[in-house]
Amino acid sequence: MDARDDRRMSSYRITLIPGDGIGPEVTDATVKVLEATGINFEWDVVEAGEKVIAREGTPLPQQVLDSLKRNRVGIKGPLTTPIGGGFRSVNVALRQMLDLYASVRPARSIAGEGTLYTDIDLVVIREATEELYSGVEHWIDREHSAAESISIVTRKASERIVRYAFEYAVREKRRKVTSVHKANILKTTGALFQEVSQKIAREYPQIQFEERLIDNMAMQLVKKPQEYDVIVTTNLFGDILSDLCSGLAGGLGITPGAIIGDSIGLFEPVHGSAPKYAGQDRVNPVATILSGEMMLRYLGERQAADRVWNAVYDTIKEKKFVTYDLALPGYTQRPVQPSTCSRMAAEIAKKVRENS
Ligand code: NAD
Repeated sequence: MDARDDRRMSSYRITLIPGDGIGPEVTDATVKVLEATGINFEWDVVEAGEKVIAREGTPLPQQVLDSLKRNRVGIKGPLTTPIGGGFRSVNVALRQMLDLYASVRPARSIAGEGTLYTDIDLVVIREATEELYSGVEHWIDREHSAAESISIVTRKASERIVRYAFEYAVREKRRKVTSVHKANILKTTGALFQEVSQKIAREYPQIQFEERLIDNMAMQLVKKPQEYDVIVTTNLFGDILSDLCSGLAGGLGITPGAIIGDSIGLFEPVHGSAPKYAGQDRVNPVATILSGEMMLRYLGERQAADRVWNAVYDTIKEKKFVTYDLALPGYTQRPVQPSTCSRMAAEIAKKVRENS
C-alpha cells in the first residue's frame, strides 16, 4: 500500500532519509512536530549520503530508491556531496532516476524583524531535470583553453513544468503565474520556454499570466517582491532566483523545499548538511519542519499543515525558543538567548498540539 492509499485512513507510510551532518537533528525535530498533529505516520527510515559510502559502496543505495518508489512520499535531510571518489551528487541523481522534475520553493516572511521584507509570499517553481544541468559539457581542447556546456530544453519538460505551475496556482488559490526566461537572447531554448508558457497560460484564463526576462526579474524581486506570486522558470535561472527569494524572506534556516514528480514527492530543506554544526543541537529545524508542512499539503492534510505553519510563526514571533540564527542582532532588534534545535522543535510541537 502506498502513502496515497493510506490517506483514506489518515495514516501514511513515509520514506525518511535522515541525511548527513545536521540532517538527523533537523529530521528528528520534524518527525516530532508532524507527529504532534495526531496524524499517524509510519516512518520507513533509509540511509543515504556520505555516511553509507563505506558500507554500501555508494551514497545512494538501491533501497533508498525502492523505498521512495514504494511509499511515494519522503522527507529527506541534507546530504553531503562527496568530494572526489567519482560519486555524483546524490541530489541530482535522485532527481534524474526518479524523474522528480519540479523543484518547489516557497519564500514566505515569517514574523521576523531582521528580514529584508516582512510581507513576501511567493513560490519559485523550477524545472529540475534539463537545460544547463543536463551534464553535457566538456573541454574543447587538451590545453583546456575553452569549455563548452550544452543547454537542452525540450517541449515535453517545458510543458509539464509550466502546467505544474498553473495547477499549483489553482490548487493553492494563487492569483498569478510569472514565466521567467531570456528569449530575447536565447533564441531557441529561451524562445521554446516562452512559447510553451504562453500556450499553457491560455488554458488557465482564471490565473493572471505575465512574462519577465531573467535580468529584469532579479531586479524586480529585490525592489518589489510583494508583486510576485508563482514564478516558473528553467533550471539555472530557477536555482539562482530561489536562493535570492530565500534571502529576501529570511535565509537558509527557514526555507523549505520540495522536489516533485508525477507520482513521487520528496520534501527537504534548501540548506545543506552544515557539517561544522553536526551533533551540536544548534541549528534551526524550521526549514525541515516547513518542508514537512509542504508534505502535509501535498497529502491533502491542509488543516494539519495550517497548524504547523501557525505554530512555527508564533514560536518565531515570541522569540522565547529560537535557534542562534534567529537570535542574532541582524535578525532581531532585542537581545534573545539562543535556544537549541530540539528545544525549538519541542515548542513548535507543543503549539501544534494546543491548536488541535
Ligand atoms: P550549508 O547550507 O550546509 O551551510 C552553510 C551555512 O549556512 C552553515 O555553515 C550555517 O551557517 C548556515 N546554515 C545552514 N543550515 C542551517 C540551519 N538549519 N540553521 C542555521 N544555520 C544554517 O551549505 P554548504 O556548507 O555549502 O554545504 C555543506 C554540504 O551540504 C556540502 O557537501 C553540500 O554539497 C551539501 N548540500 C546538500 C544539499 C542537499 O542535500 N539538499 C543542499 C545544499 C548543500
